[in-house]
Amino acid sequence: MIINSHSTVETLPENIQGNKTITLEQIDTTCQVILHCRHYGCNAECGKSIRCEINLNPGIALVPAEGDSPSTILHTYKINLPPKKNYKMDYCTEFTLIFSALPKNCTSFHFIEPDAPGAEGWVIRNIKRSSTDVYRLTFSNQLSYEGEIDF
Ligand SMILES: [Zn+2]
Repeated sequence: MIINSHSTVETLPENIQGNKTITLEQIDTTCQVILHCRHYGCNAECGKSIRCEINLNPGIALVPAEGDSPSTILHTYKINLPPKKNYKMDYCTEFTLIFSALPKNCTSFHFIEPDAPGAEGWVIRNIKRSSTDVYRLTFSNQLSYEGEIDF
């Protein structure tokens, strides 16, 4: 997916596993929280003849329902944080967000993207903690989530 003409897909830090090229699946994600996100267009032409901008507020956080301190964003894949811009090039835009660990005792949390002026924030409350801490989020007219199934 092309985000815009000036950006490239972010590569992983090299210090995770020496100089070997690794994929997202191979990172030691023991404590991190991975959100695979799908963002759907606001109408049938969105991402085709209309190029809406996806604005990701860098203050985005996972807030434990128990009230502990929030997990903050560590990395993004296939989406840029400001000041870089993201324009929809497809009706369905896929990207991944990686957050710092949630507290061990956390059983559910809220995904909160603060409101930016003139834009509506994304909020998904009471996401049930999964044992893998990998989740799929869907952003469309209704926001929803699924915990990754364990095998
Ligand atoms: Zn749109």
